[in-house]
Amino acid sequence: MAKPTMLELSRVTKEYRVGDQTVRALDEVDLCLHPGEFTSIIGPSGSGKSTLLHLLGALDRPDAGSIQFEGEEIGALNEEQQAEFRRHKVGFVFQFFNLLPTLSAWENVAVPKLLDGIGLRKAKPRALELLDRVGLTERAEHRPAELSGGQMQRVAVARALIMDPPLILADEPTGNLDSKTGTTILDLLAEICGSGNSVVMVTHDMNAAMAHCDRMVTLLDGRLSVSDETERTVNV
Ligand code: ADP
Ligand code: MG
Repeated sequence: MAKPTMLELSRVTKEYRVGDQTVRALDEVDLCLHPGEFTSIIGPSGSGKSTLLHLLGALDRPDAGSIQFEGEEIGALNEEQQAEFRRHKVGFVFQFFNLLPTLSAWENVAVPKLLDGIGLRKAKPRALELLDRVGLTERAEHRPAELSGGQMQRVAVARALIMDPPLILADEPTGNLDSKTGTTILDLLAEICGSGNSVVMVTHDMNAAMAHCDRMVTLLDGRLSVSDETERTVNV
């Protein structure tokens, strides 16, 4: 039976104009992503990985082509619709964690709920539950400066989960961590994926991608290369 489709990109092109120069960051990209898959996007610096991730998360719009999320076109949403889409469908994890320094761990996890009009006190039980899930029960009241890099990234993963989004997007989530700590974050993302979320991770660490992901997509100069559709058939 064919797998259901979560995201379908068809001939997606994105260009940046800087002065009188045009950079084609993505060049007619076709890609299908399925629910519950852990997909990695690999490729050298400047190959278009972050651009692709931003389009998947409606942080930006393509210049041409279509991006369908669960059958709905998201490539042409207006800003308000994009924000609404991001709030409920996507959780983001970034290389530099992007935590708010004056808030505690649990408050950082709860921030997306605040943006959705729900008070801190009401969001607290769920934030604590998620901190427990990422192994940080003991650190709930700590501020980011009182946490290690790996712990900060765990807080960011918990924050990405608080709106229960079907899709988690991670841009170089281990890029600022030592390899052992990075592996624990990848294990965590794989576990989240195993419990039903889809995870798309950008990385330039091919070994990390191979060890943890169901599927690897390679970008080179804005084009998907043939190693797309490489599916892992054995557990490494
Ligand atoms: P990667 O994440 O793989 O390193 P990016 O998606 O960030 O690649 O960038 C792809 C290409 O687009 C690069 O040539 C980069 O310089 C260019 N680019 C990315 N963002 C911008 C921007 N905001 N303005 C102009 N050029 C950009
Ligand atoms: Mg990048």
